Amino acid sequence: MLRLTELRLPLDHSPQALAQAICERLNITQDALEHYSVFKRGHDARKRVAIKLVYAVDCTVRDEAAVLARYRAAHPKDNHVQPSPNMEWVPPIANGAELAAQPGYKRPIVIGAGPCGFMAALVLARMGLRPLLLERGKVVRERTVDTFALWRRSELTPESNVQFGEGGAGTFSDGKLYSQVKDPRFLGRKVLEEFVKAGAPEDILYLAHPHIGTFRLVSMVEHIRREVEEAGGEYRFQTRVDGLVLNPQTRAVEGVRTAEGETIHADHVILAVGHSARDTFAMLQAEDVAMQAKPFSIGVRIEHPQSVIDVAQFGPSAGNELLGAAEYRLVHHASNGRGVYSFCMCPGGTVVAATSEEGQVVTNGMSQYSRAERNANSGIVVELRPGVDYPDDPLAGMAFQRQWERKAFELGGGDYRAPAQRVGDFLAGRPSTTLGDVVPSYKPGVTPTDLSKCLPDFVVEALREALPKFDRKIRGFAMEDAVMTGVETRTSSPLRIPRNEGGQSINTPGLYPAGEGAGYAGGILSASMDGIRIAEAVALNLAGKPATL
Ligand code: FAD
Repeated sequence: MLRLTELRLPLDHSPQALAQAICERLNITQDALEHYSVFKRGHDARKRVAIKLVYAVDCTVRDEAAVLARYRAAHPKDNHVQPSPNMEWVPPIANGAELAAQPGYKRPIVIGAGPCGFMAALVLARMGLRPLLLERGKVVRERTVDTFALWRRSELTPESNVQFGEGGAGTFSDGKLYSQVKDPRFLGRKVLEEFVKAGAPEDILYLAHPHIGTFRLVSMVEHIRREVEEAGGEYRFQTRVDGLVLNPQTRAVEGVRTAEGETIHADHVILAVGHSARDTFAMLQAEDVAMQAKPFSIGVRIEHPQSVIDVAQFGPSAGNELLGAAEYRLVHHASNGRGVYSFCMCPGGTVVAATSEEGQVVTNGMSQYSRAERNANSGIVVELRPGVDYPDDPLAGMAFQRQWERKAFELGGGDYRAPAQRVGDFLAGRPSTTLGDVVPSYKPGVTPTDLSKCLPDFVVEALREALPKFDRKIRGFAMEDAVMTGVETRTSSPLRIPRNEGGQSINTPGLYPAGEGAGYAGGILSASMDGIRIAEAVALNLAGKPATL
């Protein structure tokens, strides 16, 4: 099979045009093209009046070797025609069930049922290693009820919310499934295939920027749980890990302690707790687990009418079904030395209350698969640096987040409404007293105010500089009535838990830090990929083989 990339066709191309383009590229006749399938489809909208669809296809052709040789001879510097890579994932060990049947076998523990944890559990279970997954929050349907209670009635359940519970932080999200990380082993493909098996839409396999949306994510994580259980794994909900059992001489992990006081013995513990497990991070520091402060970003969510973004990005093709609701990605280097960028953009979505702690306000964004809500939203955030903006201590970033989240809570009125401001007012340096045509989607509601009171000065300064610059790239971005809601603080983990080549903590053998909370992922796809990687490392260790991540 051959993979052809960068096949560019007009947005309104005919159904036959793709086959013709393949034949033209390979210089073959139509009858020599035996079969083709779309591997990826994206678009290039840099010229709004001539938007192109950009395809990568896999095809089988008659005399493949000869066709490839001829192509390479004619285009020696071109790498857009290659043999299709083998993307199949192969388990690193074949004797998992045998190992698990041995007397004294201790099953690996996975802490956290987010994308990293559930993917690690799935892979371990399929290898026959019977993992035990411990999750502090509730099963996803009950968690949904608790999450909606905050959005509808200002009632927060600290152990069951947008951050905590089955499915992890990305369950109530846009479900974007792409990542910038290098992926030579096609682990991303493995994740997407598992998601499709679990009920995600099939188009995530070929769209360049796929997404699932909240509604389908909920049933997908339930399906994955059933798969893990059928393969011999176990989930325990409302089971928070509050301590580690360490060997006093070697510091090797011997088990975990739960909040209920139970000790569960294990020699392999995957720590996939996400970026909001602040009490768990404090526990790890008390246990002297090696951790480092790491940069992250804070800012606000911004909302515009989706139609403004569509027209700015797609011009006359706005609303075209193949393009869907338009996205954007923006970056500006401010003169105070700070990077300002858009984060977790949700087309046709809503801004959500995403705190996991009482007395704090945190924003984030979500959407449904249809992306049909009136507003587009994204985080517009400014980079922070440990040792400059807060002390270079592993827990200091977390304290810094809390400080601004509390200010936002107070400024919002002390009942989980969020502080909000019109962009026009923010740029003019005056508080908002009312909002305009763009109706903010954040629930349980917003309080018009002055956002500069719940953000560091250098963040306000960088945002004020960046917004007009962004308006030059997306006309309307700095429109007077666009709404900013604060504060966006949980952009990534404020710390890193370093691990060695074998995936284990550098000073606590048997502890496998993984996913976003440990600083090894940023998003659903990369966290899931890290889950696979860390499960492989555990399996190899159980089998007495070396692992290299
Ligand atoms: P998490 O998903 O955070 O999972 C960690 C789990 O561990 C949680 O379920 C938590 O309850 C549990 N836990 C924590 N401490 C303990 C403990 N002590 N004991 C037991 N269990 C514990 N990313 C994207 O790629 N696309 C998006 O569209 C997107 N949208 C998002 C929207 C929102 C509202 C939010 C909040 C996040 C979004 N993200 C998105 C980010 C994405 O969700 C995370 O990057 C991803 O979930 C990280 O996966 P993880 O498994 O490492 O951690």
